[in-house]
Amino acid sequence: MSATLIDGKARAARLRASVAQAVTGLKAAPGIVPGLAVVLVGDDPASRVYVANKVRQTEECGMRSIEHRLPADTSQDELMALVASLNADPQVDGILVQMPLPAHLDTDQVVLAIDPEKDVDGLHPQNAGRIVLGAEGLVPCTPQGCVLLAREARGGDLSGLDAVVLGRSILVGKPVSLLLQNENCTVTMAHSRTRDIEAVCRRADILVAAVGRPEMVRGSWIKPGATVIDVGINRVPAPDKGPDKTRLVGDVAFAEAAEVASAITPVPGGVGPMTIACLLANTVVAACRRRGLTVPEM
Ligand code: NAP
Repeated sequence: MSATLIDGKARAARLRASVAQAVTGLKAAPGIVPGLAVVLVGDDPASRVYVANKVRQTEECGMRSIEHRLPADTSQDELMALVASLNADPQVDGILVQMPLPAHLDTDQVVLAIDPEKDVDGLHPQNAGRIVLGAEGLVPCTPQGCVLLAREARGGDLSGLDAVVLGRSILVGKPVSLLLQNENCTVTMAHSRTRDIEAVCRRADILVAAVGRPEMVRGSWIKPGATVIDVGINRVPAPDKGPDKTRLVGDVAFAEAAEVASAITPVPGGVGPMTIACLLANTVVAACRRRGLTVPEM
């Protein structure tokens, strides 16, 4: 492997340390403790793990964690009433409703109901629109993590670079491409209808892969010296580890790509850890902006 590993765990730990320092400062003056409310509906095992990690890391950063666990048969009206009460609660600076919601619930209606100033997931259309405008808002966490890792690999300045974003989902691909434009990259978005996708990828100084297809991006798709940010999290069989064993892989064939790229994120340990760290940072941002305070450097 010739590429440098972009260590998402280490970058996320640094961001969490900055968040903790900012929280210490806010506690000292003006004497506020940012609060993050996390809502979990049902008992999906993966969602329970995510929520437990968010709660633990929120508390480790010195913030207040408010957890609401609701049964799987919670009605739309009950969930909307909880969101309304969290919107009105001055102790709550950020609201995160863990997705996916059970099938009988209307996710869009819930996202629309969250106060955009407390929307630390950055999913509300008002925050999505602010990214389009290049205006101040709450930025979705995984896309923000991708940009921070790309900046890390490129010494902070992405200006003028050719970026290709594979995938155009609302959650990842679209916001990543807008954030990279705001970083002055020249951005191409590729998706399932893109013609000659390999040639498109080979133009990229920064390649962000968010397709959900295990190891789709081969080494031959990578421009020599490129920075590769692999968002994909795919569980695949691992017969070498034993029958019924699995492993996580990204959307990029890591070993091949690492021979060509200059820097690459691993899976796991790349983009994944950045998501919660950016959520914590967004909670501090929301706590400050709601009170008209200057947002501390993080
Ligand atoms: P998604 O909503 O399923 O979107 C996938 C995108 O990839 C779509 O735009 C689709 O194109 C495109 N695509 C699918 N197959 C393709 C192909 N063969 N060639 C080119 N484009 C193709 O997925 P997502 O929510 O964006 O997530 C993507 C991956 O990131 C998943 O593995 C997910 O688990 C992971 N993820 C990780 C984190 C994290 O914290 N690390 C967070 C979120 C997601 P069309 O639009 O044309 O259908």
